[in-house]
This record gives sequence, structure tokens and C-alpha cells, in this order.
Amino acid sequence: MKAIAVTPGKPDSAHLVEMRTPEVSDVPNGRGVLVRVLRVGVDGTDKEINAAEYGQAPPGFDFLVTGHESFGQVEAVGSEVTHVKPGDYVVATVRRPGHSIYDLIGTSDMTTDSVYYERGINLLHGYLAEYYVDDAEFIVKIPQGLKEVGVLLEPMTVVQKGITQAYEIQRRLHVWKPKRAAVMGAGTIGLLATLVLTLRGLEVITFGKTPKPYLNSDLIEALGATYVTSDELPVAESPKKYEGGFDLIFEATGYSPIVFDSMQALAKNGVLVLSSVTGGDRRVEVPADKINLGFVLGNKVMVGTVNANREYFEAGVRDMSQAELEYPGWLSRLLTHPVRGLENYRELLDKLTNAKDAIKVYCQVAE
Ligand code: BGC
Ligand code: ZN
Repeated sequence: MKAIAVTPGKPDSAHLVEMRTPEVSDVPNGRGVLVRVLRVGVDGTDKEINAAEYGQAPPGFDFLVTGHESFGQVEAVGSEVTHVKPGDYVVATVRRPGHSIYDLIGTSDMTTDSVYYERGINLLHGYLAEYYVDDAEFIVKIPQGLKEVGVLLEPMTVVQKGITQAYEIQRRLHVWKPKRAAVMGAGTIGLLATLVLTLRGLEVITFGKTPKPYLNSDLIEALGATYVTSDELPVAESPKKYEGGFDLIFEATGYSPIVFDSMQALAKNGVLVLSSVTGGDRRVEVPADKINLGFVLGNKVMVGTVNANREYFEAGVRDMSQAELEYPGWLSRLLTHPVRGLENYRELLDKLTNAKDAIKVYCQVAE
């Protein structure tokens, strides 16, 4: 079969490879699920992998098959698999268990191991291929009614995890009833965070860079949320307008200085969730005393979040289902840039890097 791979350590090395087609029996104990890949989304992580800033090849290979945002259809299952059958639509999780205690209880997203295994990202081949096989434990069923938007589930899980963790943390307060949230960033993750917080009944203010109107601001307003640019309303000053600040802030800009502004926009007892993977080496000067004082006197929390385990994939399916009922067609408007066929990997990466108006760029691997 065909697959899209990179040579780790070599910038801009994306190329097609020919590989053995996997089989259900590659997974032991009758637990295999063979999936025909239909769509695979790409994101900033794929950009960094192709720039050779990130990602290692699996042992025994000099290339890494990329792609971690999967969507496909079950082709065959092993004898012990009961929760999916041939023909079902499915999405696979990304990280695979390592050795820490967190890995042992199905929460490899919380691993404390220094090496982690992620399909399409680090040490394991990904989904930009015609087929993949995996253990049933990592395969999540997608309802028929979500088949057009199923490729958005993986980015959705990043949001699910961050927000679930925020609510878990806030149980410390016994009576926490968040009313107003801010989302930093209006890209795929920012849009999905706006959606999820709106579905939870919060008033949401989403901060972007681009002056409205454009597709992303239209999508935010279609949810009844508010779009502002950080130029019109600097984040650190936003509590002047939104009195008391925000009970929950979800940061997803990829621009780390905004974290320190967000810390100043957080309400008393509030929680700030950081989700940007910032690989660079940026430095900024910050009002350290002021930020620290606000955190101390306001009993505030800041938490980082990465990856997502099965629980968040299942929660993501439920929220995507609710979104289709409350805002029909909204999710599919995020699928702005399809690229047909694995052989058009150049076009895929070009759109990922250069398309200014792109929300989700994805490869339509098969119809
Ligand atoms: C993926 C996560 C992954 C993270 C770090 C993100 O793009 O969506 O699943 O854990 O990169 O590798
Ligand atoms: Zn990703």
C-alpha cells in the first residue's frame, strides 16, 4: 500500500512510500481491527514534523509515516473484537501506553515517561496510508450521522481533555459555577473550544488576530459567542470590559506570550488551560509581581494539557452529536481544504503551510 512519510532529521522530506498492507492478525490475541483510511487531517504538529523539528522513526525504519487525525471504515476484525464490526466508521487514538502508572490505567495521555509513543508523531507510524491496524482498545466508533465530520474528532479530543480537566480541578471549590469563558485563538482548536464551552452554557469571548468578518469570526458568532481581536481589546486589559475577568480561559494560539496576558484576565478562583505546543525559544518580559499577586490573592489555577485518552474521544463524539443537533452543519464548515489522494502530499503540505483562509486541511485518502 501507499503511505506518506518523512525522513526524521531531514527538513521538507515528505515523500510517498510503498509498504506491506497490514493484516488483522498483526495484532495478537484476536484483538486486531483493520481500518481502511478515508480521511486524515493535518495540523501544526505535522508542519513541525515535516520541518524536522519533531518526530522520530519507529525502530528499524528510516522513515515515519505521518498523520494522527484519522477517520476510516472497519475492513475486518479479530475474533475477540465486539465493539466494532466491518463497515463501522472509526477514529483511532494517538498515544500508545508506555510504562508509568498512568499508562497502566488507560491514561497514557498523562504519562510521566520521558519517551512517548504517538502514531504519526513519535516512534510509531501514523494514518496517512491506505490502511492501518491496531488493538481494539484504541479504536473508537463514530455514529453514521457524524461520518462527514468524523475527521474532526482528534482535534476535538484535545479540547475535551482540557475542559474536563478544568472542571475536575475546580471541584476544589465545591460550588464552582463558571459563567464567562475566554478562548485564546480562533483556529481549529479555538473554534472547537468555543463550541464546547457554548454547549456547556457559558458566555464565550474568543480572541483572534484577524479583524472580522471572516469565516472563523462568522463561525464563532453563529454559536452566539463573541469574537474580538486582541488589538481592539488587549487580553491583559479585558477585565476592564468583562468585569472580574473570565472564570475559565482556554489558550490555543500557539503564541506563548499570550499566556501571561491570560493570567491577568483570569477571574478570582478561575482556571487557565494551556494547550499550545510551542517548540521555539521565545522570551518576553512580564509584570511578574502583579501576575503572581493576582494568582495568590485570587486562588487561581493554571494547567497544561496534551493529548487525550479514549475517555475524551468518547466525550468528543457526544459533543459532536449535540453540536449537530444544536448547530446543524456548523462542524462541516470547518472542513475548508480537502486534498484528494495520498499522491498529492505536496499540495497537502502546501495548503497546510500557505492557505491563509484554511481552518482544517485534510487528505481525502479514499471515497
Ligand atoms: C496531537 C496530540 C499530541 C501532541 C504532542 C498534537 O498535535 O494532536 O495528540 O499529543 O501533538 O505530540
Ligand atoms: Zn494534532
